[in-house]
Amino acid sequence: MQEELIEKLIEQFRSLPGVGYKTAQRYAFSIIEGKPERAKRFADAILEAKEKIGFCKVCGNFTDKEVCSICERRNRKIICVVTEPKDILSMEKVKSYDGVYHVLFGTISPLEHRGPNDIKIKELLSRVQEDGVEEVIMATNPDVEGDATAMYIAKLLKPLGVKVTRLAQGVSMGSDLEYADEVTLSRALEDRKQL
Ligand SMILES: [Zn+2]
Repeated sequence: MQEELIEKLIEQFRSLPGVGYKTAQRYAFSIIEGKPERAKRFADAILEAKEKIGFCKVCGNFTDKEVCSICERRNRKIICVVTEPKDILSMEKVKSYDGVYHVLFGTISPLEHRGPNDIKIKELLSRVQEDGVEEVIMATNPDVEGDATAMYIAKLLKPLGVKVTRLAQGVSMGSDLEYADEVTLSRALEDRKQL
């Protein structure tokens, strides 16, 4: 019976991204061998996060409030457009960035039957007009869909008189913001090009 429970715990850790069987096993034993309070804190943190964290109603970032702390505190005249909420965490590696974000929740993808109306483009246009935005930085991934989405949005934004830029694409940038390090991202931001 006990072994079955251990297996059950290992399976849960294994379901997380990037966790193989051995790592899952180490995590499981760490919980089993640790104090009961620690296991409880761990379980509570998971449940509480799942229950209380939603999306910022302005930018789409993960938050447990209505408006996230980035939207509250930072310069709303500059918006960095990303694909997923987790991309904000990646971009935040760039300490010098003081603007806000906008999450598209996807890219335009004819292959996956996702058109411009299926992602948050309309919301971006409203923000640009309502907040007197001066620059929109396209930080969608440097792949076919990310490039096409950036170009499409740039075309819509330009008539509004806003500057539209794209992160420079370093050779080492890879295909995903998530894997770019702080130095690469900082340089990509500094060297951003006007679209
Ligand atoms: Zn926000």
